[in-house]
Amino acid sequence: MNTVQNVIVIGGGLAAGKTAEALRQDGYEGAVTLIAAENHLPYERPSLSKDYLFGRTEFDDALVHSADWYQDHDITVRQGVTATAIDIAGHTVTLGDGSTLPYDKLVLATGSIARHLPLPGADADGIHYLRTVEESDAIRATFGQGKRLVLIGGGWIGLEVAAAARASDTTVTILEGGKLPLLRVLGDEIAQVFADLHTANGVDLRTDVQIAEITTEHGRATGVRLADGEGVPADAIVIGIGVSPEVEIAKAAGIAVDNGVLVDAALRTSDPDVFAVGDIANHQHPILGQRVRVEHWATALNQPAAAVSALLGNDTEYTELPYFYSDQYDLGCEYIGYASPGSYDRVVIRGSLAKREFVAFWLDAENRILAAMNVNVWDVIDQIKPLIASHASVDPERLMDPEIPYAQL
Ligand code: NAP
Repeated sequence: MNTVQNVIVIGGGLAAGKTAEALRQDGYEGAVTLIAAENHLPYERPSLSKDYLFGRTEFDDALVHSADWYQDHDITVRQGVTATAIDIAGHTVTLGDGSTLPYDKLVLATGSIARHLPLPGADADGIHYLRTVEESDAIRATFGQGKRLVLIGGGWIGLEVAAAARASDTTVTILEGGKLPLLRVLGDEIAQVFADLHTANGVDLRTDVQIAEITTEHGRATGVRLADGEGVPADAIVIGIGVSPEVEIAKAAGIAVDNGVLVDAALRTSDPDVFAVGDIANHQHPILGQRVRVEHWATALNQPAAAVSALLGNDTEYTELPYFYSDQYDLGCEYIGYASPGSYDRVVIRGSLAKREFVAFWLDAENRILAAMNVNVWDVIDQIKPLIASHASVDPERLMDPEIPYAQL
């Protein structure tokens, strides 16, 4: 018999909203309380650096569910409240307002926090990070012809914000520490495609740069001074140099933490009544055969159903492969699988890099496909997934040949 009567979810992002949804979908009838630090209903973040940042969509479009939905499903969302402590022995969560809530099962969906630049001037006015809807609004307000925007970090945030800013003719400079943007994730060949894309769209892409300080005047950022002494003037600066999983509350509670919250294949933490999903979950992935922690939308979207199933007593494992997508100018891409730096042997291209119309495959030394990225080529993910999941070796020559259907590989 299922004795779960009281579930608390700490978080207010996609993973939290999806956890609430999965609980009701699975027929759970007990209490559900979401603790959302932001003063909003749970919302999805991808559009904050894409359509919403362009001004093409409204904030309501990003909500996981409407206010009516939570009411109709008898789910309590405590907005603008942080959870400050978990007592795993006593099964309680303490909130910032001093109150204490009991739980039978707890789901941690605390997400990430933006990494801050530890440099002089980095807390001046005119410096932006991008995590929340308010931050996206503030960044959009810096766009416009003749305005100078400097982006520190050529990762996903830097590149997507650059594309949105260029659409309104903003003067954009990207300052990236590595020798190419996205180099660590994609490797030289594919990172170069993104570098060329941004240069072709008028971005001043500066790589291999080291930043010495943010220059300021009357407490407001005026630009960036590079280590070689050069100054890059700016009307506004966006910093996107990565994120850290928000694990403090779990760690303080004694839950095992190591590059995120350690969870088993069913997303259960070191405490059997506590689960973790989304950015923070360092998951023992049954198909990949290793721990992976993925800071992308699809993980937050898909993990909750598995965690909830396990939480309700079912024998479940989370088996979805990591997935993400990006849109920049006229380039759309999707990525499936997991090829960490150093784990792959070579990258094989099916299609044309020059036309930016291809599928890239990351292969290990035994020619097994670890990951793939389709760029301006569509409806291939479902065909590629089984090739990755099977761990079978493929013939790279045949893989490269667009005439050979995936099913024949
Ligand atoms: P990110 O994708 O991890 O990229 C950070 C970039 O900043 C890296 O290229 C990094 O280079 C560089 N960097 C680090 N320190 C630097 C410094 N001091 N000066 C200059 N460059 C520096 O992180 P993000 O762009 O901030 O994005 C935050 C999170 O949101 C990530 O988890 C990302 O996956 C997620 N996100 C995803 C999408 C999507 O899926 N489409 C879109 C937006 C955001 P090194 O690698 O050499 O350190």
